[in-house]
Order: sequence, then C-alpha cells, then structure tokens
Amino acid sequence: MSVYLDHNATSPVRPAAAEAVMAALAGGGNPSSVHQSGRAARARVERARATIARSICARSEDLIFTSGGTESNNLSLHASKTLGCTRIILSQIEHDAVRAAAAASGLPTEEWPVDAHGRARLDWLRDRLAAAEAGERIAFALMAANNETGVIQPYAEAGRMIAEVEGGHLFLIDAVQMTGKANFDFAASFAQFAALSSHKAGGPQGVGALATACDAQVGALITGGGQEKGRRGGTENVAGVVGFAAAVSAIGDDETSRIASLRDRIERRLKAAAPEITIWGEGVERLPNTICLSAPGWPSEIQVIALDLAGFAVSAGSACSSGKVRKSHVLKAMGATDDEAGSALRVSLGWTTTEDDADAFCEAWLREYDRVRPKVAAAG
Ligand code: PLP
Repeated sequence: MSVYLDHNATSPVRPAAAEAVMAALAGGGNPSSVHQSGRAARARVERARATIARSICARSEDLIFTSGGTESNNLSLHASKTLGCTRIILSQIEHDAVRAAAAASGLPTEEWPVDAHGRARLDWLRDRLAAAEAGERIAFALMAANNETGVIQPYAEAGRMIAEVEGGHLFLIDAVQMTGKANFDFAASFAQFAALSSHKAGGPQGVGALATACDAQVGALITGGGQEKGRRGGTENVAGVVGFAAAVSAIGDDETSRIASLRDRIERRLKAAAPEITIWGEGVERLPNTICLSAPGWPSEIQVIALDLAGFAVSAGSACSSGKVRKSHVLKAMGATDDEAGSALRVSLGWTTTEDDADAFCEAWLREYDRVRPKVAAAG
C-alpha cells in the first residue's frame, strides 16, 4: 500500500464527504423543479452553500458554485473585465488557472513580484497603486497560499491597500490551497472574489465555488437556465456541493496542528541528515501541510519515480496536466538556480497522514538520497 503525500494535488475523499455524496445521489431531484423532490434537492444545495460560506466568513448569497478552482478563477477574471477593469496585475507565483485565464482575457497583464521567501511584495504594490493612471482600473490577482511552497501571502494587507486607494480597482484571491487547510476569512480580505475548490479539502473533484462581494452581475462564463442567479448556468452538481460541504465540516479542530507537527518532524529529520537541502519558504508563514525541498543534483522527476517505486506518492511541485515536469516559475521567481528548481520535490500531508507515514517517508527519502549522494557530490 502506498503512502499518499500529495494532498495539494488532491486530498483523498473524507468518509463523511463520500457518505454525503451517496445520500445526495440517492435523494435525487433537480433543484430547479417545483415538486417535493426538487425542493429537497434545493434544500441540500442551500444547506451546503450556507456551510461553505460560513467556513470562510462570506454570505451564502455571495457564493457561486462552479466545477472547481480553475473555473472559479476563470469566472473572477472574466467578471473583472465585465466590471470595467482595463488591466490585470497578477503575482509571479500564480497557478496556471489564473495565468492562463489572465492571458485569455485579452487585457494587458503585468507581473507583481515576490521576495526571496516567495511573498508578494507590498512595497511594489504601494508604488504601483500610486503610479496608476487616471481611468486605469486594475484587477489585482493574488493567491492566498502557494500550491508548491505553501507560503501564505499577505493577502489581507494587500486587499486593504487596494481598497484604500481610489480608482475602483478589484482584488481577486485564489484561495484554492487554503480550502480545508488553514483559516481563510473572505470578509477580512477586502477582496471582491475568492476561488475555492472541494478536492483540496477532501471533498469530491469537479466542484468548487467563487465567493463574490460584488452584488452586481458578474457576467456568466457559462450561460443557460439561469442557475446560480444567472451567474453560472447548468443544473447544480448537488452531490458534489453536498460532499464539498461535508468535507469542510469534517475538518477536526486539532487537524491543522497535528499536520503541522508532522511537517516539522519531517523537515527536522531530513535537514539533520542532509543539511545541504533547501526548504522553500522556511521561516515564513506557510500552510501546515506543505514541504517544498530542493536537493541539487537529484532531478525532481527521478526523485518522484524513485519514491513512487518505494511506495510514496509525492510530486515534483510543478508538474502540468500532461504529467511533464517543468522548471517551477514559482521557485525561479524566488531566485532559485536552474539546479535548485530542477530538483524540487513537493511533499504535501493531510488528514490521512500518520506519524508512521512521516517516519517511513523520511527513511525512504534518505535511503534513496544516499544512493545518489556520491554522484551528486562528484558532479557538484
Ligand atoms: N489554484 C491553485 C492554487 C491550485 O493549486 C489549483 C489546483 O491544483 C487550482 C487553482 C485549480 O483547482 P481545480 O483543480 O479545482 O480546478
């Protein structure tokens, strides 16, 4: 049996979420139907909406259900254009969901640099806001936590700065990696939009949400039967949203601290045995579950394969949907050399991870590393 340490890609479905999905499927009904069965399905959707909204301090009526984090981010960038933005400024470390949607918007784009710890620079933001031209309306896009390094961004401070200046700029947060891992307070973020995804929290795949603070029509990307108040057409994924809400509700109070202590245990052990490795974002606030390390000279894809053969599912951190490993734009933005970026490994823990998993992973990683170490040292 393999040890699954790739929760930032997808967290295994929590039993409570699976049960809720099965019950919703058995319940059936179309939430738009007026008969009893339809009303019961509508009630399930609205209960799920209230649960998820409450978990991020948003209002139920401001949550739009989507097919996942990618669609939510596409919708927020689309909405920015509808709401009159003339430019998109996105951080250097955004996920492809945001990068591609920004490029597809047809608006001019600009990059918001990060510091060596991988945090978006607030001094740069201050200068850029001051330099905005009259009539320039900017959509600023910043993720809440990075998917590769886990580094938590200063999104609330950035949101406040953007809200304080005149010009009607918008602030879009990709909170996909925060979902189920750390507290995210939409109301305190000063953002107009925040994207969430169910499968990062142990809910089913293919379902997500966009929180919006814009009462105005956001301009649907998918039009149809007027569902989600005309903001996202298509019959709601009833079982999906119910599973999403059940996953969010199943997160235990002590889960975060338990996972953080396992992460620290792994990092301490690997660093003690291999002090030459770099742990990205070490020393700044990170998600409790994410370790991104580089072992220069040992290519990411070789590490991933060796660990897979040893029974551990981890990731290179910057794999795209084809499974190919690219040099991480996130680590490059943080100043990583080609060798560091090319030898990065992402280990992401979650609700299934035990102390035995953490220890077994350390042993396997160190065993594999010892095999390549002489070659790495000779090459270096
Ligand atoms: N944004 C971030 C930061 C992500 O990590 C991911 C998925 O890895 C996405 C967006 C896309 O979310 P989804 O898989 O739900 O479409």
